[in-house]
Amino acid sequence: MYVKRKTINTKVSISGIGLHSGIYTKVELHPAHAGSGITFVRADLGLRIPALQASTTALDHATTVGRDDVSVGTVEHLLSALMACGITDLDIHINGPEVPIIDGSAVPFMHLIDAAGVRELASDIRVLRITEPIEVVDGNKSIRITPSNRLVIKYKIDFPHPTIGKQALQFDLQHDNFLKKIAPARTFGFKHEVEKLRAAGLARGGSVENCIVLDDGGVMNGPLRFRDEFVRHKILDLVGDLALIGRPVVGEITAYKAGHALHSKFVEQILRAAEAEEGAPAMAARGIESFA
Ligand SMILES: [Zn+2]
Repeated sequence: MYVKRKTINTKVSISGIGLHSGIYTKVELHPAHAGSGITFVRADLGLRIPALQASTTALDHATTVGRDDVSVGTVEHLLSALMACGITDLDIHINGPEVPIIDGSAVPFMHLIDAAGVRELASDIRVLRITEPIEVVDGNKSIRITPSNRLVIKYKIDFPHPTIGKQALQFDLQHDNFLKKIAPARTFGFKHEVEKLRAAGLARGGSVENCIVLDDGGVMNGPLRFRDEFVRHKILDLVGDLALIGRPVVGEITAYKAGHALHSKFVEQILRAAEAEEGAPAMAARGIESFA
């Protein structure tokens, strides 16, 4: 199964503070030629980092891609929006170490891509199709994929917090569905964790403007956009992590209490299985090419 490769029509940009670094950066999306893939370009350093699983360097609380000592953090919300729009080829210029968090959701990125316009390229990309179930388990957390002709995500979470508790949602990845049901769901965090995160050099740009903050009593900066905004955001994150496969993927995914670290192991397993199935590196080829 193949689909058309896609890029954007024109250059667009967005600026803001990074959730973890607290550093203000500007992101510019540039159209790219067919086959070049999605690449982060550290505009301040002239370094290209392919948006691929092989580039991931850190997975604590957000997904980071890097090369040598240079990285771009919190890539998942932007990549999630690009995946939902079917973008396969794009240069993402950024003049600092972290993608802006904006409002904590993927809506600003969806609007940015919409403003640029999406255009089909002359060549096709092969969809990664799962032929055998793949599962990754870590204690009581798990994520699995079984064969399907569409990308369907069933996500379940269970937090010991009265506002969250058990939440479950099934989602079919299509542009309009994503824009309406998943993109608006914001990042969330717990007040008691903020001090710990800050001590570890994280959450420095976090505020009630870009993150749902929960304390023992409930949401400190309501109202929520959805009663089950939390599980919706987990789906948003997973779509972003799946984008690091570097190709569209179809299958039925069931995730339970997962997060970036488990998503990442899962993507590795999918790539390994695809490599065995297709008899060629499922991701490496264009990654190396885009270093040139
Ligand atoms: Zn997130």
